[in-house]
Formats: sequence, structure tokens, C-alpha cells
Amino acid sequence: MTSMSTIDRLLAGFRSFRAHYYERRPKLFETLQQGQHPEVMVIACSDARVDPAILTQSEPGELFVVRNVANIVPPFKPDGLHHGTSAALEFAVRDLGVSHIIILGHSQCGGIQELVRGLGEEGNKRDFIGPWMSIVGGACAHHVRAGKGEGDAQDLREVEQASIRESTANLMTYPWIREKVNQQKLGLYGWWFDLGAGKLWAVRPPTEKAARLG
Ligand SMILES: [Zn+2]
Repeated sequence: MTSMSTIDRLLAGFRSFRAHYYERRPKLFETLQQGQHPEVMVIACSDARVDPAILTQSEPGELFVVRNVANIVPPFKPDGLHHGTSAALEFAVRDLGVSHIIILGHSQCGGIQELVRGLGEEGNKRDFIGPWMSIVGGACAHHVRAGKGEGDAQDLREVEQASIRESTANLMTYPWIREKVNQQKLGLYGWWFDLGAGKLWAVRPPTEKAARLG
């Protein structure tokens, strides 16, 4: 018996998905054909280990998701350039009218590791990752041990969580988000997933005790 190739395994997965949703629960996709009405937007990392739908056991149609390197929200900057995450936010908040935005960070985040190590230094130049990570560089600067090489696990955890706080603050620079939050029509949440321990934490201001969610 030959082992199944990676792509074959994905196609088998799709057949299982189709059997589960289309054949056993036809009403669900009948409804979804009419349009999407998610209540929740999730901004998650592109990291292959942190899939928001799997982590929250959500169904098709429940989560409006944007994934990018290190689950970063850039500040509001309507300058006519290419802003994928901002475009997704705009659609979710202004058109879909989501009620909750969750920024989902995680432990062992490669983007944050590179930020701590100093991406863009000699020998490790990238065209896009460095400028992208610099969005949260300022807020994390006080955690970063400049010139001391790799951060330890505690450094990374602090920077990962500080980055979520910075992205949450950036959400409030979007006027149509700020307005809905102030009217209590939109809730903002920072979550941090501990990959090793399998636990979920609420990211709170640094002065507050961390709260375990699950
Ligand atoms: Zn990550």
C-alpha cells in the first residue's frame, strides 16, 4: 500500500467535509448560499498551528477571518495603497456589521521571534516582513533586549501579548470602529493561545492579572 500524498490527503479531507456538511446537513449550506452573517471577526496569525475555526470549533459561516503574519492590525491609514487587513476590517464592520472582533495571538510566534531578534539586520533582510512587523515594533521596544540576541520564552510571551495590545489600540484608530465601540455595538478582545499548554488567555493591560479563558 502506498502512502497517501499530501495533496491526496487534502482532497480526501474535502470529501469528508462535503459528506459532513452537504450530505448530512443540507439546510446549513442552503442557508449559507443566501449570504454570510457572521457575528465575529477574528484576526489571527498565518501560523499553520493556530487555526481559529479549529481552535473554537466553529462552523462555516460563523467566523469572518483575516490571517496575516503575527495577527497584526495596522493603524488607520487611508492613503490609497494596498491594505489587505484594513480592507477586511472595513468589510466586516461596515458591511457585515460584526459585533465582536477578536485578535488571536499565540505562543512561539515566528513573526514576533523575528521582531525580538531584529529582523532586517544584516544577513536576514526581507522585503516585506520587517516593515510589516515594525507596526508593533514601537509598542514592543521596551520588551526587546536590544543587542542581546534571541529572547527567551518569557520575552516572547510578553512581546506577543504587548503586540496584541498595540493592535487593539490600532483598531480604535478606525473611526467607524471607534464609534461602534463607544456605542457598545462592537466588542474588542485580545486572546493569546499557549500552544504548548493548550490554554487560552485574555490579554489585559500589563497592570492587570492575566485571566485564563480555557
Ligand atoms: Zn504567529
